[in-house]
Amino acid sequence: MKRLFLTAQAAAFACLLSAQAQEKKDYPQPEPMRPGMSEYWTPQPKVVAPGDIKQAGAPSDAIVLFDGKDLSAWTNADGGKAEWTVKGGVMTVDKSKGDILTRQKFGSFQLHLEWCVPKGITGESQARGNSGVFLQDMYEVQILDCYGNETYVNGMTGSIYKQTPPLANAMRAPGEWNVYDIIYTAPIFKEDGTYLYRPFVTVIQNGIVIQNHTEIQGTTEYIGFPRTVKHGDGPIRLQSHGDPSQPISFRNIWIRPL
Ligand code: MG
Repeated sequence: MKRLFLTAQAAAFACLLSAQAQEKKDYPQPEPMRPGMSEYWTPQPKVVAPGDIKQAGAPSDAIVLFDGKDLSAWTNADGGKAEWTVKGGVMTVDKSKGDILTRQKFGSFQLHLEWCVPKGITGESQARGNSGVFLQDMYEVQILDCYGNETYVNGMTGSIYKQTPPLANAMRAPGEWNVYDIIYTAPIFKEDGTYLYRPFVTVIQNGIVIQNHTEIQGTTEYIGFPRTVKHGDGPIRLQSHGDPSQPISFRNIWIRPL
C-alpha cells in the first residue's frame, strides 16, 4: 500500500515537472508589426466626379457643432480650450495645438461636415492634407487629399483607416469643398468587453456612397491590427495630423443623434 502511494506521488511530481518545463519552453513570438504590414495599394477605387451640391444648412433638430462663429462646442484633446483658427466662417487646423474633440458625447448618429484642402497643397501619399474624423473617439474615417494623389487604398479618403477602402474616389480638387455625410451605428458590447455587435458606418462623400453599411472591425490603428476596446458614448474627434503639408479647413458641422 505504501509503495502504491509513493508511486502515485512520484507520478504527480513528474507531471508538475513536465508542466513547469512546458511553461519555460521558448515559443516563437509574433513579428513586431510595422506600418506597411497593414497597408495595401490595389485595386485603386474608380474616380467618380461628384455632381454639384449646394451648401446644406443644418436641419431643425440637429446639434450644430460648428456654424462658422466659434469653437464653443469643442475642446483641445488635452481638455483645454479648442484653439484652431476660426476666420471667415471656417475653422482651420492648427498643427501646433493638436486634435480637437466635441464637448458632447454621442452614441449612434448622422454627422455632416465639410472640409477643404488648400489650393496648391504639396506632399504625397499620406503626407498631403491628412486629417480624419474619429467616430466616438475610436474609429477613424480618413480625411486626405486623394485628388490625383495615390496612397494605400485602406488609408485613402473615406477609408475606415487601415480596414476598408472607399467604394470610389469622390474627391473634389484642392480649394473646393468636400462634403461628408456619415451615418453611424454604435457598437454593443458583452460584459466581457468583446463585441456583441460591432459598429457600422455608411459614408457619403459629395453625394456618392463610399462606405455602405460597413462593419468596423475595431480601433483604427496606425500600426497593427484593429483592437477591441469596450467603450460607451464618445466625442467626435478631428485630427491634427503631423504631416508637413498645409493645414485643411472645416465648416458647417452638425450632428443628429439617432
Ligand atoms: Mg488621418
